[in-house]
This record gives sequence, C-alpha cells and structure tokens, in this order.
Amino acid sequence: MSRDDEARYNRACLLVLNVCPFTLRHVIDDYSSRHARSLSLCDFLEKNKDRLFHLYKRECCCGHKSNKTPMYQSQWDSLYNRNTSTCLNGKRIDCPCKYDGKTSATTNVMDVTLCCLVIHNICPGVDVNHIQTVREIRNKLIHAESARLDLLTFNGYMNRVETAVCELAKNVSTVLHTETLEMIDELKNRLMDPVELRELRNLIIDQKRFSDLEAVRMGLSTGADYIGFDLVEWVGTGGMIYIGKVKGLCVD
Ligand SMILES: [Zn+2]
Ligand SMILES: [Zn+2]
Repeated sequence: MSRDDEARYNRACLLVLNVCPFTLRHVIDDYSSRHARSLSLCDFLEKNKDRLFHLYKRECCCGHKSNKTPMYQSQWDSLYNRNTSTCLNGKRIDCPCKYDGKTSATTNVMDVTLCCLVIHNICPGVDVNHIQTVREIRNKLIHAESARLDLLTFNGYMNRVETAVCELAKNVSTVLHTETLEMIDELKNRLMDPVELRELRNLIIDQKRFSDLEAVRMGLSTGADYIGFDLVEWVGTGGMIYIGKVKGLCVD
C-alpha cells in the first residue's frame, strides 16, 4: 500500500519535472522563433530584458516598481550576463541596462518553474490556464508534507497535467503533440530503476532548495543549507544549528 503510494508520487514528479520541461521548452522555442520572430533565444531574451527584470528586482531604472519578484537570482543569471555598460537612464541602481542576454542561452537551461515564468510573462497568446495547471501541481508535489499519493489524487494530478501539456503541445505542432503523448505513455507504463529514482530525488531537493530555502534565508542572517535531508543554519566558522528535516521526502 505504502510502496504504491510512493511509486505514484515519484511518477507524478517525473511527469512534472521531466516531461513537462521537454514540452514547455519547445513551446518557448516555437514562440520565440515563429511568433516573436527572434533569430535566437538570446535575441528573444534581449527583446524581453526589461519585462523579465521586473520579475527579478523590485526597482527598475525605467521607473517600474514590482510588488512580487518571483524570479530568483540563479534563474536570472542562467539567462543574462553582466556587461560593463552604465545605465541608459542615468540611474545608479542594478538595472537591465547592465545585462545582456547570454549568447549561449538555450531553453535547455530552464527547469519547469522558469519555463512557466517565461511563458506566462513574455509569450502572450499561449494559454496561461494550462501553465497555471502545471505550476499548481508542481507546487503541490514539491511542497507536499509526504512523498506519497493515494490513487485518487494521483489520477487527478496525472490527468490534469496531461491535458494541459498536450493542449500546449498541440498548438505548436502535431509532431510535438505525438512526442509528448508518447513520453507520458511510456512514463505511465514503465518500471522505475534505482538510478532514475536517485536522480529524481536530487531533482526534487533542488526544487525544494529553490523555493523553501529562499524563504528560509530571508529570515536568517547567517544563511541556511541542506545537508542530505537535514536543513541547517550555518553559524560562525563551520558551526551549524539543526533546523529540521526536509519536508516530504521518504528517507530509506
Ligand atoms: Zn524596467
Ligand atoms: Zn538602466
């Protein structure tokens, strides 16, 4: 019973963390080349630099103020490089004038969270309801108290994500739709091996570190980190305080 619950949790996580990014990256590539007529992802990022900067920092040299800044520094840094320019608006704050889109950037650096953020904000016309579904279920899985899913919840999550991601794929091409369906089908029917499960666990910890840890950090001056499955706060030189276990992970 419990083993089945764990397997269902893992399968749902694989769908959201592995299959969804595959399709969403294609959605972004298609949007950038076909709709935004960008020559490359770098070109597309350059065109949308100001817009994305507003998701990253509270204040911008254009005068825009943001209440919410959902983009993390590591996400911004994966897309943009610091340049040596001064601000075009003569401001002395960190601002988009001081960054260039990375020439080496591809959608392959984007995880499911960043894909959703990019599509939601700079790909108008792509159905945001589907993006919202993927985000919602990603958050439910990553922030779950336990790494288990009962059959009813599992079926609900799988069906909703499958519908959302297939609709998004269909709007790009029939080829992408077929590929997405095949990946989902394969995922539903195959056995998961230990290596794959270990990789998945690392992926989940990464996702947790991303959101939980940032939140924890805001309340901690000395910084916090995960060691294995323990959340700790570093103090002084090498000392640490145990905060708690990483929520929602089964430890063998
Ligand atoms: Zn701005
Ligand atoms: Zn500026």
